[in-house]
Amino acid sequence: MSFAALGLNDQLVQAINECGYTEPTPIQSQAIPLVLKGGDLLAGAQTGTGKTAGFGLPMLQRLSETKAQPLANGRAPVRALVLTPTRELAAQVEENLRAYAKHTNLNTLVMFGGVSINPQMKALGRKIDVVVATPGRLLDHVSQRSIDLSRIEMLVLDEADRMLDMGFIRDIRRILALMPKKRQNLLFSATFSNEIKQLAEDLLHEPEHIEVASRNATADTIDQAFYGVDKNRKRALISYLIGHHNWRQVLVFTRTKHGANRLAMQLDKDGLPAMAIHGDKSQGARTRALSQFKDGQLRVLVATDIAARGIDISELPHVINFELPHVAEDYVHRIGRTGRAGSQGHAISLVCHEEKLQLKAIERLTKNSFELQILPGFEPGPEEAQPATKPPANNRGRGNGGGRGNGGRGQNQRGANNKAPRSNKPNQPQRHGRHDG
Ligand code: AMP
Repeated sequence: MSFAALGLNDQLVQAINECGYTEPTPIQSQAIPLVLKGGDLLAGAQTGTGKTAGFGLPMLQRLSETKAQPLANGRAPVRALVLTPTRELAAQVEENLRAYAKHTNLNTLVMFGGVSINPQMKALGRKIDVVVATPGRLLDHVSQRSIDLSRIEMLVLDEADRMLDMGFIRDIRRILALMPKKRQNLLFSATFSNEIKQLAEDLLHEPEHIEVASRNATADTIDQAFYGVDKNRKRALISYLIGHHNWRQVLVFTRTKHGANRLAMQLDKDGLPAMAIHGDKSQGARTRALSQFKDGQLRVLVATDIAARGIDISELPHVINFELPHVAEDYVHRIGRTGRAGSQGHAISLVCHEEKLQLKAIERLTKNSFELQILPGFEPGPEEAQPATKPPANNRGRGNGGGRGNGGRGQNQRGANNKAPRSNKPNQPQRHGRHDG
């Protein structure tokens, strides 16, 4: 099946070729003809399935086939709106749409918070056909009257489940009230809680339903491994794995922002260039870290779940869960960052004694059973010997908490290492860092 056979025009097919896509993904084969027909759509699609092109290509085609109704002041209106939960996802979606629209005369614009509103306001002075936005910043523009939503013909709610999780429902409802009633609505979600079903019911008019891959299935292009390890040895194990295998682009998930900062700092000291991204970082820092990571300058990106939501790096080879997520669904989202659109991916999770319940929940959700692998030198101690912060003899700090100097930290780790028979691997992290330099 080709893109042209799905009904897409020459300009779009040319752009798709230039993106290097050779054939449509399942969500694209299903969504494109339906969206081209003009009806509403409810789509269950997990991350990495190619859903952006699934709604973006037919959207662009429909917009380029019809003429816009000018605003009362004679200006060209914004005709399509894509709402996303995170800044990174907004940026990613707009970047894709811009590439797909390259040979059309349609213009796209992204707007999100955390950066100055002025350039966005200035950009809105030009003809903009498609806006991709996070809900809060869009409402800022509405209140400043820099955007008029009264001519919106198409609305996409992307990752709607995550938008509701993040508390955007009131913003979404305010935005809906500003748009004309007659429009095409597309709702994409990875999961379908009652809240999502309610939103879909209120928003969509006789929608077509499509669903690709069962929602909690993990892509079979992802090789998943679980390592049993003590909590205080996880950092050393990550450094070891990255260095030993010479992985060059690794996304690591932590549960907390503080944990992300600390781990990034420690890996950096181990000689593995690393940065953290999370909600407390400025937008500038987030964008910088992401672009360096994409370029391959930054070897390790440490992220929290929400910050990582919008990360799309094609063919990201490795994802590591430093800690298992509290919510099993997040495991699927996290590892969905690798093995995207058919490429082979590799997901590793580090599991300590106190995470056994989370592991069980992941097994139940994904209908898999996973065996814990143990690496020589990183054997976990017996469960009862695992008080969270029991310091090794030479530890002057508080376990993982407030150690300051590199030396002290290294001592800690090596002190802890003595528990396991590591004999010939004393300074692994540092060594690997140098190897790879
Ligand atoms: P998405 O699920 O929309 O975030 O897309 C995931 C990744 O797959 C993005 O990097 C897209 O550029 C890529 N992609 C989308 N459609 C295709 C396709 N038909 N063939 C190859 N890659 C694709």
